[in-house]
Amino acid sequence: MVEAFGHLIKIVIGPGFCLGCGTCVASCPFSVLELVDGKPTLKGRCEACGMCFNQCPQTADFKEVERHVFGRNATEGEVVGIYERSFSSKARDAGILVRCQDGGVVTALLAALLEKDFIDGAVVTGAPDLPWFPKPVVATTREDLLKCAGTKYSRGAISTGLRDAVDLYKCGRVAFVGMPCQIRAVRRMKSSTLAVYRLADAVRICVGIFCVEALPYEVFFKKVVEGQLGINLADVAKFDIKHGKFVIYRRGEPKRELDVGALRQFVDTPCKICFDFASDLADISVGAVGSPLGYSTVLTRTPIGEEAFELAKSAGALEVRPLKDVKPGIEAVKRLSLKKMREALEEIGRQQASGQPLPVAVESVSSAFKHET
Ligand SMILES: Cc1cc2nc3c(=O)[nH]c(=O)nc-3n(C[C@H](O)[C@H](O)[C@H](O)COP(=O)(O)OP(=O)(O)OC[C@H]3O[C@@H](n4cnc5c(N)ncnc54)[C@H](O)[C@@H]3O)c2cc1C
Repeated sequence: MVEAFGHLIKIVIGPGFCLGCGTCVASCPFSVLELVDGKPTLKGRCEACGMCFNQCPQTADFKEVERHVFGRNATEGEVVGIYERSFSSKARDAGILVRCQDGGVVTALLAALLEKDFIDGAVVTGAPDLPWFPKPVVATTREDLLKCAGTKYSRGAISTGLRDAVDLYKCGRVAFVGMPCQIRAVRRMKSSTLAVYRLADAVRICVGIFCVEALPYEVFFKKVVEGQLGINLADVAKFDIKHGKFVIYRRGEPKRELDVGALRQFVDTPCKICFDFASDLADISVGAVGSPLGYSTVLTRTPIGEEAFELAKSAGALEVRPLKDVKPGIEAVKRLSLKKMREALEEIGRQQASGQPLPVAVESVSSAFKHET
């Protein structure tokens, strides 16, 4: 029996596990799916081809996908996933450093990959329409990349950007930048036996960013930041999470801070059950934790990740030190990874106790992680 959109509604969308990544929409060969208020919606006749179900990151068997990427599963000790080398790094370009979130490694890496003709374009996340509302952007120039530097703390429909990169921009070699769940979506596409190969095969490199949790745009940014705190989102220069504080930097005004713990109430179920902090399935993972302020922690995980990072380094785009030479180093990344796994397991336990069947992505790893944590 083909598992089609009806199954996706029953198992993922209906129970509230949909990530809104847009992978099903991007891969529907009949173009009858659309995102309405961030959720996939049928706009025509479903041909029951099963493509949407088989691309959804929530129906993926995480361990199976991990084996597809690395040829094996992470061992008990590999709590930040499988990786080759770890670095603390920073962009050398002053223009990138003023716009980036941490060390600007993601933007500098992509700019170097474009310049060296390693990729034709990059699917990144900008906020072209509404302030801080994440939307996929196909970047084909350094200027495009610069406009998308910096973190938007909500999830966007990034996979529709991959469709645009391939179908509209005719990119055959794409860098895809995403949070752990979004990288899982692309890896699911690349490992599925039923896949839209024109999209999956176009992804040359997956750059994953670290992520504890995302904050829903309407619920948090509109209602809390704008509504309750009275901060116009258009006046915000940067949002950041550092040392347990969510910091709001406003242009010409004092910064505002909220305790990160207080944000948990706004986090939705797909984030609460997510156990992947360090984008374990990426070719290269980048985050702030582990490195000094203003630097990025980089984990190169696969041969293509190593090659791309070396290319950017040798092009002079990055200042690079081994992560073991800086404080707090890899132990801090491990601590956050374990914390995220523990919290996900608690939430999974709560969901199971209420009789709620869980998506395959969660089921497949929860028993393994129970063992590890
Ligand atoms: C929701 C969220 C939570 C995070 N939590 C943590 C954390 O707890 N600890 C930690 O160390 N790091 C976290 N990060 C990652 C961190 O904020 C930086 O993205 C990372 O350190 C890279 O910094 P950079 O200066 O190299 O990136 P930059 O050069 O500034 O580039 C940032 C890149 O991130 C992409 N991006 C921005 N917003 C989004 C988004 N919403 N979805 C997908 N891609 C996006 C852009 O496309 C851009 O290419 C989080 C990121 C997100 C989106």
